[in-house]
Amino acid sequence: MFNKKSIIELKKDLNNECFSRKTCSFYKYIKIENRKALRNILYKHLSELKVFGRIYLAKEGINAQISIPEHNIDEFEKFISNFDFFEDVKFKYAIKDGHSFIKLKILLKDEIVAYKLSDKEFDMNRVGKHLKPIDFHHSIQESNSVVVDIRNYYESEVGKFRNAIVPDAHFSQELLPKVDNMLQKHKDKKIHLYCTGGIRCEKASSYLIKKGYKSVYQLDGGIIQYAHDIKESKIESLFIGKNFVFDDRLGERVTEDIISRCHQCDQSSDNHKNCHNDSCHILFIQCDKCAKKFENCCSYDCKSFKNLEFEKRKILIKDVNKKVTSAKLSTKFRPKLYKLFNYWK
Ligand SMILES: [Zn+2]
Ligand SMILES: [Zn+2]
Repeated sequence: MFNKKSIIELKKDLNNECFSRKTCSFYKYIKIENRKALRNILYKHLSELKVFGRIYLAKEGINAQISIPEHNIDEFEKFISNFDFFEDVKFKYAIKDGHSFIKLKILLKDEIVAYKLSDKEFDMNRVGKHLKPIDFHHSIQESNSVVVDIRNYYESEVGKFRNAIVPDAHFSQELLPKVDNMLQKHKDKKIHLYCTGGIRCEKASSYLIKKGYKSVYQLDGGIIQYAHDIKESKIESLFIGKNFVFDDRLGERVTEDIISRCHQCDQSSDNHKNCHNDSCHILFIQCDKCAKKFENCCSYDCKSFKNLEFEKRKILIKDVNKKVTSAKLSTKFRPKLYKLFNYWK
């Protein structure tokens, strides 16, 4: 039932497609019973519609980042909305069309946002007040307002709202306690939260309300919707730089501002990249010059490793001491990469 083709074959298939695709995301917090059965139904139908991407199903809801052939969009929306519990789901489409995924994955998860909160710490019946992007835009400029980035550090590094409070968090589970700490002196102010598409704010706002914050607002539809609405209304964006996205594109430009630096040479750059040494694959920021110099790798070690013959790489990969990989730092860890710049030397 699941796709067994190699990545190279899948990429080739994608490039040979003679239709265009749209990148779409949607989510909903809703109690889902019998997730396995739902996964099978979704997998079967969405495969038929040639939908790619990843979908998380948790007891608390659904979260999807996918790409859909343009001619199948109507049928796709109808199919999803036909489930009672997904009836009012809002589909969001990215500004730029993209070849952003190469296959379909549907995974069962504990939470759709991995804050690792216990049930006592939030109540999804009480969430922050939704503000439409233009209302959010005006509201954050009022004197009694603070605006908080509810994303991880590597996301806000390349793009954020001007004057936003940016928590220094690498993992989702450390984010909310940090936000609570940073907001202690602003407890009586109007707290405005934003994230990529709105899903994280929904739960984060519920957490803050439970912590005793009185006026909590959230950006409806996230940065994706804000970027869209600002462009339509021809208002100057208060979000500067790039909106980091979790697909092959790694970012959508919102304004021309470049607010981050290359992790290798410290020149202005906001190009996120995964190291081209496949056994490293670490996420970092690299300018075009360094991309050339390091052949898209995060270090000279990764570059030389990448260029070894396959057989030699195979032997080295098994040798833990010689292994050139971010796995030494745990593969799931996305560290503050500039701190690691000297790691391999
Ligand atoms: Zn550089
Ligand atoms: Zn590397």
